[in-house]
Amino acid sequence: MNCSVVTIFPEVINAYLGASIMKRAIAKGLLTVNVHDLRAYTSDKHHTVDDYPYGGGAGMVMKPEPFFRITEELWPDRATRKIILLSPTGRKFDQNCAEELLGEEKELVFFCGRYEAIDERVHQYLADEEISVGDYVLTGGELPSLVIIDAVTRLIPGALGDCRSAEADSFSSGLLDYPHYTRPEIFSGKEVPPVLLSGNHSEVSRWRKKQALKATLMKRPDLFDTYTLSEDDMKLLDEIKEEN
Ligand code: SAM
Repeated sequence: MNCSVVTIFPEVINAYLGASIMKRAIAKGLLTVNVHDLRAYTSDKHHTVDDYPYGGGAGMVMKPEPFFRITEELWPDRATRKIILLSPTGRKFDQNCAEELLGEEKELVFFCGRYEAIDERVHQYLADEEISVGDYVLTGGELPSLVIIDAVTRLIPGALGDCRSAEADSFSSGLLDYPHYTRPEIFSGKEVPPVLLSGNHSEVSRWRKKQALKATLMKRPDLFDTYTLSEDDMKLLDEIKEEN
């Protein structure tokens, strides 16, 4: 995946990309992220990126010129890039959206806002899409862009130590993830479910499926609206309901 992030805080992006799975994916050539300092595309000696809002009101607004200038200089060809403007007003990001972006052949360019807003002309004339990471407001687009890059990177074949990790993740199968345990077998009197120690792979996978169904039923029943239940799933759900 090829990405660029446009921000006034490049160090925030670089710090996260310099660790763990992101760092390894970059080293393996699976992910490239070019981080651009928006201030380098200003034309005054103070490198001003914001100004007062027309019409008055609280907060400052990010100026359009630096965003238009960086786009003209680095990505003049719309056909080869997709500009994603991070905004609470955008489409809400989820696992399906991560999978869609994984399949995107264009370079993904993330515009990170700060202050009260980005000038509306950037939204209207530069952005190909606006994405929100949830119904809450953060101080900047840096965390949202990292959230998206991280979620998409997990899906790149070879990015995780074991590709089965991403397949079993919550939402990938349409259900929540099942519970995980590691050593010790008994911790403070609390035991690991015996089936996980049985060595019986089909029993383990049946238990995991049942736990995933149970977690989804208890915590996110809305996910069943779009999940197609198999006959086995229905039997497991009946068992769960009887037990509870
Ligand atoms: N006044 C804006 C509003 O109410 O929609 C919020 C601006 S916010 C303080 C500054 C920047 O943070 C935004 O331009 C956007 O880039 C980013 N941001 C904040 N919350 C976000 C979210 N939930 N999803 C994506 N980006 C977000």
